[in-house]
Amino acid sequence: MKSKVAIIGTGMVGMSYAYSMVNQGICEELVLIDINKEKTEGEAIDLNHGLSFAPRKMKIYSGDYADLKDAALVCITAGPPPIEGETRLDTLHKSIGVMKNIIGSIKASGFDGIILIATNPVDIMTYAAWKLSGFDKSRVIGSGTTLDSARLRSALADKLDINQKNIHAYVIGEHGDSQFVPWSYALCGVQPIYHMASKNKGISFEELADIEDEVRNIAYKIIKAKKATYYGIGMSLARITKAILENENSILSVSAYLDGQYGHDDVYISVPSVINKDGVREVIELPLDKGEKEKFDKSVVVMKENIGKLDLENNLK
Ligand code: NAD
Repeated sequence: MKSKVAIIGTGMVGMSYAYSMVNQGICEELVLIDINKEKTEGEAIDLNHGLSFAPRKMKIYSGDYADLKDAALVCITAGPPPIEGETRLDTLHKSIGVMKNIIGSIKASGFDGIILIATNPVDIMTYAAWKLSGFDKSRVIGSGTTLDSARLRSALADKLDINQKNIHAYVIGEHGDSQFVPWSYALCGVQPIYHMASKNKGISFEELADIEDEVRNIAYKIIKAKKATYYGIGMSLARITKAILENENSILSVSAYLDGQYGHDDVYISVPSVINKDGVREVIELPLDKGEKEKFDKSVVVMKENIGKLDLENNLK
């Protein structure tokens, strides 16, 4: 299959993703879809004007659902824009209407690739997209805490004065207020960061707690300052897309379906997962300690309560 990607929702997040895709030359063909057709046409023209400076030739155009038939991946970035003071979960009912409409059109198009979701609340919208699409669970993925993990790596790298690429640390659970960091699996190169904190080597336990808190709440600060967050998520989506199109078998903390792992099933939540051309090849099960397991279980409860509010069985009819 050629590396054709479609974006549904060409707002701030969708276009930041598109811009990252063009700058990194991640696909051969990029289709922009939105209910605001005039906007996608303008966006496509604008992006085409940058192609002289891009690393590869790309076909970029404003399209519609018929263009999905031979696409490898569709990324859903449509949804209500964030509003200051709202949590991601507060957008649940507005987002499900959008998701239902989009998934119906994707199914009707004959699309047979991978669905990547960014719409918030992302873990719940990914579950809904999976249910509504009838696709295999491995082919429906949420961006989950890929972004939060990048934020964590950035904060740790700054504090330790080490390149972000040498920080291996994940935020897991909800892409939202119940997320947490399993610190026992955070490494700076080959050094466990918890061990570094116990020796006060460049970082303390208090600073780790502050960083975890900052990562959990940073989106609220960004939204207060500039109304929305988009560059970081755009680049996170591009990273996940690249892992899929290039069959990388890379480990990313996406929102994946649990089928008994971590003692839970029938839920989408963020855990480190191996990503390749088939989507989620495998969920990695970290042996969490008692405190971490309690936090994870709490996050699953939040997910399940909110899935329950959607009444998906009736929505499927
Ligand atoms: P935005 O308002 O800038 O863009 C949303 C776009 O969706 C608009 O262009 C709108 O016309 C389009 N749209 C709405 N309904 C549609 C439909 N049925 N079909 C096609 N297009 C439709 O908003 P934004 O800031 O880009 O945010 C979009 C979504 O991304 C929100 O749900 C937001 O919460 C989410 N988001 C997720 C993350 C993450 O980490 N997962 C980060 C930031 C934002």
